[in-house]
Amino acid sequence: AGDLLDIRDLRVEFRLGTRVVHAVNGVSLTVKRGETLVVLGESGSGKSITFEAVTGILDTPPGHVTGGSARFDNQNLFELSDRARRKICGRHIGIVMQDPLSALNPVYTVGFQLAEMSRVHMGMSKASANARALEMLRKVGIPDAESRFNSYPHEFSGGMRQRLLIAMAIAVNPELIIADEPTTALDVTVEAQILALLRDLREQTGVGLVIITHSMGVAAEVADRVCVMYAGKVVETADVRSIFGNAAHPYTQGLLNSIPHQMSGQRLTPIPGQPPDLANLPAGCPFHPRCGFARDQCRTEAPALRAFGKAEHQVACHFAETVAALPGATSKAGH
Ligand code: SF4
Ligand code: MG
Repeated sequence: AGDLLDIRDLRVEFRLGTRVVHAVNGVSLTVKRGETLVVLGESGSGKSITFEAVTGILDTPPGHVTGGSARFDNQNLFELSDRARRKICGRHIGIVMQDPLSALNPVYTVGFQLAEMSRVHMGMSKASANARALEMLRKVGIPDAESRFNSYPHEFSGGMRQRLLIAMAIAVNPELIIADEPTTALDVTVEAQILALLRDLREQTGVGLVIITHSMGVAAEVADRVCVMYAGKVVETADVRSIFGNAAHPYTQGLLNSIPHQMSGQRLTPIPGQPPDLANLPAGCPFHPRCGFARDQCRTEAPALRAFGKAEHQVACHFAETVAALPGATSKAGH
């Protein structure tokens, strides 16, 4: 009980000829009812693929789940038939993709596409689905909803298209919305509006939110909890305050220190080096080639995700206690 989504030890591989890309390497995380979980990481960290695997939109083949479970409402989605899983996901999980144009069909009006959601997934009649579509357009703040109902996606601006995708995601009254980089393509003003919209919807409906992003700013703006991923693993997870005030993983600290300083606008130390080759992961801690704290143990022994101080703070680093205790370790982030 309690957890809406419970992912345990998820593993996803992509087989490309003889190359095996280890995209997700034992991810465990939970989403509680009504909370906003921000999943944070650079590209290639496995954050999108984790949720694509769970919702069944992973590009298969060559990507496939090789282990683990994903329980939604206490049902393991991986034990269901594709059909049954699509049905559950379509009805209970709303998905907002990064690129609205690829998620919207250019040949149908936005009103039609929106009404389809309630028709297909909720079995609504055409008339009630149309009424609901109009209501959703208003709810996400599309001006002149009646006249925009019969417009086509290309007639909308980027920000308005993102609102449309959110309208489609909430049309089925889901318990969970998964939004993958929902604001990456938008300028900062529109980004702030979209984040405010998601926050409002969460407050009005109690929907749980997963927001996948590479931006610490987005996390600071909307998260209740943050889950930091690196090389297909969760390296740190905690409530947002602990992440910004008491980060214990060197990678999380690196992300915090690379935020442009609020006052000076100066970018502090970016994390040196590159994320690892997922087809050829380093032994031991996957972060060790970039880690300023790495010692011998780090090169041979992979750190497990473990409790750190506060109840729900977890970190995968052998030396988290030392790292967190460094003076000014995270205060440079300007929070
Ligand atoms: Fe750095 Fe070692 Fe911690 Fe990995 S386990 S993050 S290499 S100190
Ligand atoms: Mg992605």
